[in-house]
Formats: sequence, structure tokens, C-alpha cells
Amino acid sequence: MNTPGSTRLPVLFAGHGNPMNAVQDTEWSRGWRSWGRRLPRPKAILAISAHWWTDGIHATAQQTPPTIHDFGGFPPELHAVNYSAPGSPSLAARIAELVEGALPTEEWGLDHGTWSVLVHLFPGADIPVVQLSLDARTDPAGHIHLGKTLAPLREEGVLLVASGNVTHNLGAFFRAMSRSAGGNEWAPRFESSVREALLGRDEKTLAALEKSPEGRLAHPTPDHWRPLLVAYGATDSSDHTSFPVEGLDGGCLSMLSVEWSGESSPA
Ligand code: ZN
Repeated sequence: MNTPGSTRLPVLFAGHGNPMNAVQDTEWSRGWRSWGRRLPRPKAILAISAHWWTDGIHATAQQTPPTIHDFGGFPPELHAVNYSAPGSPSLAARIAELVEGALPTEEWGLDHGTWSVLVHLFPGADIPVVQLSLDARTDPAGHIHLGKTLAPLREEGVLLVASGNVTHNLGAFFRAMSRSAGGNEWAPRFESSVREALLGRDEKTLAALEKSPEGRLAHPTPDHWRPLLVAYGATDSSDHTSFPVEGLDGGCLSMLSVEWSGESSPA
């Protein structure tokens, strides 16, 4: 259980959406800036991004992880972003101790799922960041379990920042953009089921949601959904759940962010 005055850090899930939020002034980039100003300063950040899936689990172990521009068709200003945070080989080694089979690697770095949010949450880029991959071989319950395995890091000064989206159907998003009309009512409905399951700490429902009719529309593939499950797994009923950034880009791309605060709620 968490106790008053404990140094247990929060867990964050950021809905990252369009990579251009990294360089544009949008309601979401402004939301992340103001969220970042309210956060404690961690010793290190463990980032989990929708954009790094591997067989097995890997953790970046460089002294300086490269900024990876893992997209095409965006303007030069986005390719010019360099999030120059140091890495933390010692945190990568600690993860290898905690997570069975996890391997430190120098084959990846910080991808845009991580840096498009961190440039706003921690613009100084002076806190060491390790990125952890998602295991393509596991299921929703396996991702929740991974979060449970990572939970002790919260008491070791590590801030977990998972990045994905609560809804992520890009086909629906581009269709909505081109006709500038509605027709994606499943998106707010799915988002509200997710909020309810998070607030009620309903793990069974959370693990099953991606296979619901709305879940299939929200996530044709599970990549942007599962980071939320990892983050959730690292929390427990002593955490306070809040939604610091909200909104549906294009009416169907959920930008919902979640914070599980490890601090005791005021009486
Ligand atoms: Zn993405």
C-alpha cells in the first residue's frame, strides 16, 4: 500500500496521435506542457511506445539513445526533432533483472511514440530515458502482467510513461478528415467504456475490450492499445486515476491521457 509521504512515482499513459503534435501548438501539445509542469521530477523515465514491437522484450541500453524518426511523409521540421535525453544502461540492466527474458539492446532508440510526448512533458531532455519494447507474442493479460512486473520501479525513482491511443483506426480517421463529418460514434462510446473500466479497476473488462465490437473498430491492430494495459498493470487500488488530457482528434482518434497518481489523495 502507498503511504502518505511516500516517493512512489505516478504512472502515465499518453495518447500521442498525430506526430505533428511534437512541433505544433495544439490543444494536446499545450495539455502535455501543462501536465509536465505538474509532475514530479523523476530520476529516470521508462518509456513504452506503441511503435516498438519485437519478439520478446528489449530495453534500450545506450548512454545516448538516438532519436528515431519512424515515419514517412512528414515535413522536415519533424525529421529535425532531436530529443537528446541521456540513456541509462543501469536502468536497462535493472529491467533485465525484473522482467524475465528482457534483453538490453542498442538496436533501437527513442521513437516518435516516446519523443513526440516527452518534448512537451519534459522539454529539458535532461532526464535519462530507457525505452522498452512490447512483446508481439503476448496477449492483453500478458501486457497487464508486464506492468505488474515493472511496478517496483515506481519506488526507485522511475516514471513509467506509456504512449499509444485509446482509439486508433487511421482508416476511419482519414475518412473523417476528408468528409469533415461524424459517423464514428463507436469512438466516444469505446473511450467511455475504457474510462469506466479504468476508474472501476476492472481488469477483466480491460483485457477483453479490444475484442468487443467497438474494440475491433477502435483497434484494427493492437499496437496503440496495449501500452495502456502495461501502464495499468503497474498501478493498484491505492492510486488515484485521472485524465489530464482529453479530446477526440477528427472525432475518432482518442487523445485521452491517464495519470495514476501514487500520492495519497487529500482527505
Ligand atoms: Zn502512433
